[in-house]
Amino acid sequence: MRVYHEGGALVACKDAMLAFDKAGDRLDVSLRCITHAHADHAVMINESNILMSPETYELLRAVGYLRRSARTLEFGKTLDVKSARLTAVNAGHILGSCQYVVECDGSTLLFSGDINVYNTLVTKAAKPVNVDFMILEATYGDPSLVFPDREAIYSKIVKWICECLKDGNIPAFKAYLVGKSQELIKLVNEYLGIPVVVNDAVARVCEVYKKFGLELSYFHKSTTAGKEVLRTGECVYVSNHRSDILVDRKVKWATATGWALRYRFEFYDATFPLSSHADFKGLISHVEACAPKRVYTTHGYSKRLAKELERRGFAAMALESVGTFVPLAYEEGRA
Ligand SMILES: [Zn+2]
Repeated sequence: MRVYHEGGALVACKDAMLAFDKAGDRLDVSLRCITHAHADHAVMINESNILMSPETYELLRAVGYLRRSARTLEFGKTLDVKSARLTAVNAGHILGSCQYVVECDGSTLLFSGDINVYNTLVTKAAKPVNVDFMILEATYGDPSLVFPDREAIYSKIVKWICECLKDGNIPAFKAYLVGKSQELIKLVNEYLGIPVVVNDAVARVCEVYKKFGLELSYFHKSTTAGKEVLRTGECVYVSNHRSDILVDRKVKWATATGWALRYRFEFYDATFPLSSHADFKGLISHVEACAPKRVYTTHGYSKRLAKELERRGFAAMALESVGTFVPLAYEEGRA
């Protein structure tokens, strides 16, 4: 097995060449494996040799990125691609997000795209897989990026919503279309029980979540019922765009992103560090649980995370810093 870095990770296994998410557009790719439905990962998806989970397929159709059929692989199922065997496992990031296990020539490799190792109201934590090699996205891979306890963040959001309503304002959230919007809706459903109104795009994605078993309750903004709820002002608004709600009421806007830990979002009345990613501690704990002999970190804080993993006794390096070809050899006893 060999790993290349060409915009993303390419894994070569004898006669099979597997590309993951953002990897370069090579003609010799046997299969392009998409980890989840976020636009920065679901690239080149209208090619013929694409693989994704059934949930990712439905989400990409709903948001309009995918215009053709694609091969799908359920969590826990395997697929043979020439000399390589692929297994999809839950990544815990958004609906249908998966990590891929590659087995080839007696070695195993885990490609984990965006992962979350904590349970949320809408996702189950990623499960570790014991492998020889691991390619890990280092989005929040800096030691300073540690999120508060999720229940504490939920409780702050609930408090802010209650304060807005008490002051006669509609609390509104601009949130990522897939994942965060549904978590905020579920939070209001579970903790407050007041109506939620959503825009068209969020409603389309919610329908897919519901199709795969998540109960969500909301009103569509352009329906008569949705308009009536907005008119009363006793509701929460969730949208992927910050736009006017078109009611004669004051609106307070908030956003929810892990980057609230590091950056100020000046044009919002409130920001909450609610992330669908693992933070630094979560990434470290995932590697410890998978116990690979070597880790390649990629994207975000890849060099910093590699250093931190080395300090903890792992053989680790940033995939970007080792060129376009990496033979997957390791020194015995190093890890
Ligand atoms: Zn993502």
